[in-house]
Amino acid sequence: MGVGTVWFVGAGPGDPDLITVKGRDLIARAGAILFAGSLVNVAATGWAPPDCLIADSKDMTLEQMSAWLIANAARCDTVVRLQTGDPALYGTLIELVQPLDAAGVPVAVVPGVSSAMASAAAAVESFTLPEVTQTTIFTRVEGRTPMPDGEDLAALAAHRCTLCIFLSITLLHKVEAGLRQAGWPDDAPVLVVHKASWPGEERIVRGTLATIKQQCRDAGIVSQAMVIASPTLGARQWPELARSRLYDPSFTHRFRKATT
Ligand code: SAH
Repeated sequence: MGVGTVWFVGAGPGDPDLITVKGRDLIARAGAILFAGSLVNVAATGWAPPDCLIADSKDMTLEQMSAWLIANAARCDTVVRLQTGDPALYGTLIELVQPLDAAGVPVAVVPGVSSAMASAAAAVESFTLPEVTQTTIFTRVEGRTPMPDGEDLAALAAHRCTLCIFLSITLLHKVEAGLRQAGWPDDAPVLVVHKASWPGEERIVRGTLATIKQQCRDAGIVSQAMVIASPTLGARQWPELARSRLYDPSFTHRFRKATT
């Protein structure tokens, strides 16, 4: 047998139904699956064939993980590395691809539903609204991983756009400080979604810049949560909404002629 391919598959945010059809099909024919047990719902491995070797990477080092992937690619056509959400966001994609490249093992990536998108869905929110904001930033505050120059939250928040803040639920004091420094007011809406899409475990906390830290403390939310600060939050209840031009009756575009 030749060398198999290692597929980095986005497992989605938690609900096993939110994996892509392509990801599920790859799991169904995988000879070996390495998944991040602390983050990926183990149910995602339920589609694996009975003889598939399934390992949890939570106690492995990066070196052990790449050695595992390389060893299994030598014996199976299809090896799957299941990553939480989408593999391109805050994962170990590149750290794992480099040793595979060096070993001559082909790799491919299947995107997944990010927890940022699952959080918006859970709360029925839109990251963009006409004439409110047309921009979304995916970021985090500094923890053990330093933030590169120019990317501190205060600088990003100055755009007054939607901010999806990953990996920061235990650092809400820094989130608050950054937004305040950028001039966001006390009553700016902030949304926290814990375990978005996980069946029976999802929790939604709506608050403001002034209240969100205490609300999360009271709710005991200390991990796996998305913090969203955005001028669009709560728009479902707004009486006045600027309409998207695309669906405006007076707007002609490629697929429809204006009717007014
Ligand atoms: N690649 C992942 C992100 C991994 S970093 C993605 O695209 O979603 C881990 C961080 O993602 C967590 O600290 C948390 O901020 C967020 N996260 C992951 N799963 C989540 C979920 N189900 N609900 C809310 N936030 C989640």
